[in-house]
This record gives sequence, C-alpha cells and structure tokens, in this order.
Amino acid sequence: EVRVRFAPSPTGALHIGGVRTALYNYLFARKMGGKMLLRIEDTDQTRFVPGAEEYIQEALRWIGIELDESPWVGGPHTPYRQSERKPLYMQYALQLVESGHAYYAFDTPEELDAMRERLKAAKVASPQYNAITRATMKNSTTLPEDEVKARLASGDPYVIRLKVPRKEEVRLNDMIRGWVMVHSATLDDKVLMKSDGMPTYHLANIVDDHLMGISHVIRGEEWLPSAPIHVLLYKYLGWEDTMPQFAHLPLLLKPDGNGKLSKRDADQHGFPIFPMDWTDPNTGEKAMGFRESGYLPEAVTNFLAFLGWNPGTQQEMFTMAELIEAFSIERIGKSGTKFDINKAKWYNQQYLKAKTDEELTAYMKEALNAHSVSDNGLDLAKICGLLKERVTFPADFWQEGKYFFTEPEQYDEEIVSKKWTAEAVSVIESFQSALAAKGSIQADEAKALLEGILTDKGIKIGKVMQAIRLAITGVGAGPDLMVIIEILGAAKTAERMAKALQ
Ligand code: GLU
Repeated sequence: EVRVRFAPSPTGALHIGGVRTALYNYLFARKMGGKMLLRIEDTDQTRFVPGAEEYIQEALRWIGIELDESPWVGGPHTPYRQSERKPLYMQYALQLVESGHAYYAFDTPEELDAMRERLKAAKVASPQYNAITRATMKNSTTLPEDEVKARLASGDPYVIRLKVPRKEEVRLNDMIRGWVMVHSATLDDKVLMKSDGMPTYHLANIVDDHLMGISHVIRGEEWLPSAPIHVLLYKYLGWEDTMPQFAHLPLLLKPDGNGKLSKRDADQHGFPIFPMDWTDPNTGEKAMGFRESGYLPEAVTNFLAFLGWNPGTQQEMFTMAELIEAFSIERIGKSGTKFDINKAKWYNQQYLKAKTDEELTAYMKEALNAHSVSDNGLDLAKICGLLKERVTFPADFWQEGKYFFTEPEQYDEEIVSKKWTAEAVSVIESFQSALAAKGSIQADEAKALLEGILTDKGIKIGKVMQAIRLAITGVGAGPDLMVIIEILGAAKTAERMAKALQ
C-alpha cells in the first residue's frame, strides 16, 4: 500500500518549495490509490513559530490538497504532532544504545567547541563528531560503562548519538537520482536524543515513518545529505525490510538559473511565501503570498506541478484530476528547475481567460464595491469579456476597465501633447454630434459612422484614434473602442467627448 507523508516543521510560513513537496506527495498518493498524511515535526521547540501550523493547514486547503490523516482530521496513528509523541522515541534510542549503534555523550558545549577548534587548527575541512574524533572525547565512548551509569544516575545532562561506522559504504537507491553512495567517514555521529529529552529530526522522522507505515519518502533535495543517516537508522533498528523508497525532488533555482532559490530572491520577485494573510512574528513582515497577489489556486497548482515534473507531452494546462492521472515519479527531473514567475503569471492569465464572462463579473463587482462605485446599469459580463485578454490578475479588471464606471477626470498628458491635434479635435467634434443624436449604438454602426467622418475629412484613422480613445476613456490604450462605445451607449459617449472638448 502506498502511504506518503508531508512532514513540515512549524517554523514559519511554508516556502514555495514546501508546497511543491506537498503537491507531489499528494499527486503520487492519489495516482497510486494510496494515502497521504501530514505530520507536524515540532521537536525543535526553539524554532517553533505560533500560527505556522494554521498557515500550513490553510495553504494546503487553498491549493486543494486533501489529507487522509493529519493532526486536524486525526487518523489511525494519532497523534500526528511529534511533540505529542515525545514519550515514544526514547525506547528506540535506548534500543540503539543497547545494540551498540548509539551511545551517551556528556560533552559540554565548551568541549565541543574545543574539539572543533582542534580540528580546524589541524586543517580538517569540515569538523565532525565521528569515529575518529569520538575516540578522543573524554565524555562519550571512552567512558567505562559504570561511569556512564553513574553520570546518568546523578542526572548529568547528556545526548544520545548515532555511532556511525568508520569505514562503510552507505547506499540508497533514490527513485529520481538512482544509486547514491556515501562513505561513512563523511557522516557525523548525529545526535538522536537531545538533553531536553526530545528526539532530533533524524530519530523522530525515522521512527514515525516506520510506525506510520510510510512506503515512499518524497522530499526536497536539501534532505539528500541526511538520507544516509536515515538508511543507517533503518538498518540498526532492524527495519531495513520496510524501509521506504526515497525520492529527492530537484532544487528550485533562481529565475536566471544561477544558484538555489533563496527566500530573499523570492521576496524580490514579489512572491516569497504562500499564501495566507500572515505576519511573521519574528520580523513583523506581512507575508505577501500567491493568494494575496491574486493568483488562482488552480494556476498555482499547475505552475508548481511543472516545477520539476513534466508530462512528456505538449499539454500545459492540467486540472488537479488530470495531474493525478498524468503524474509519475519517473517523469521528475534530476537537475534543478528555474523558478520563473512569468510562467506563473501565464498560467493565471490562462485560467482567468478560461472563465465565462459571467463568472468574471464577480471580480468586477468586488472592485465596484471596494471603490463604492455603481455599475451604472452597464453590462458587466460584456465588459469583463472585453477586458479578459488584457488581465493577469483579478484586480486588473478594475485597473483596465474603471473608466467604464467613472468618467475620466484627467487625460493622459503625454497623449494629449502628442495626439490632441486640430485634426483630432475636428473629428471628435463631428463624431460627438453624430453620436449625441443617437441613443444606443452597435459597435459596427459606430465604426461606420466614424469611417464616414474620416473619409469626408480625408483623415487617416491612425492619426486620430488615440485622441478619440482619450476623450472617451482618459487613457491611450484599451480594447476595441467601438465596443466600448457600444457598452457605454451613444449618449454617454457623446457626453464624455463634449467634456473632453471643453
Ligand atoms: N521536517 C522536515 C522538514 O521540515 C521533513 C523532511 C523530510 O521530509 O524528511 O521539511
């Protein structure tokens, strides 16, 4: 049975990479007819951020990821918060001590610093607590057993460390990268139990994945260096047979492809985090997410799905159901993938365009309300239909079309100076009086009317068009002006022209 998990730590707003991880887990679970659970990994209490868990919950709900088991809906392995599972982990650490694969270490922070200084002085590139150094530490494996017992009995602070073998090739067969081999000499004797009695990420993650019956671990590439430690833990705990398969997702790269996407880059591009109205209590900064910026959840889902995966066909638009159908781990790439926000915008445009004109009116109504402006009885569906080629975000409907509802107060200066010529004025005057004589008018009638005037005067349309648009809308660009005239009506249009001519 396929069982996957998303295991965020509640340390802040979910980064976009985290949401992608959640999405891929979800797609895989649904594709395989399996289950997805969410586990909160909150063993590092110093990094706990209030509100982060709610943020995660809301982000996943918004994007459309349904969890089969979680701290919020429960499930057969309740509790799903590691802090609430605290009593469970010690026995496994002790089992490892018992079998000689872990040990107590009583080193003080000063002693650890001194060790690192020693190694640095000896020009060791990355100082580690490992088979070589552990033998030199007076407070761990060199202690006789009865002294260990005595120190434990007297309540001395301690940690339990994994005893990484000195010379061993650790291998794992990653579903995306194939065989990954690491020499144990490069691995640290990771702390498994901290002095506060909390397990570290490594121990808790493996114990819980095992107890929760996880079959596949799909997570970001930043966890690949931890994977050999996890392989050793599975082996030493006697769980090798049911060890999950690993799939480490490719890195997200900066938009120019140079290096890893950082939170700061993402900020610069305006889309740091995702996607809730949330203020970071550490910085007081308000998180502008995809949602706040006006992205539709289906556009974000589609965008995220393509950050590292592709269907192998030309198809770009996928509903969640279609993604589930098409998804496979085999089609996830190994190399990093560029985070190109323009692609996200493109998706948003496509999803907005795909809506009916009637559906789009909701955005315009919202804007009219927000600006306390009446719709003047105008045909909102028609207006939205006319504008929809020009919008990327819902808020653009107002930006692009507010002149339908509010008469221009000002006119674009630059266009006035360049295009408000005597010829333009004479055409606008004639057009104005022709329109004033009519009530309603169709776009093609308006066009014929204008063309007649232009022919009479021997003026080319290109020379005066922008000025006419300016007189009616106040701006120099927009959709088909004749349709705008039809929507506004001949009388209203004539009124605006008269005002502009004053
Ligand atoms: N708690 C880890 C995180 O914050 C989980 C990593 C994993 O999936 O093993 O991403």
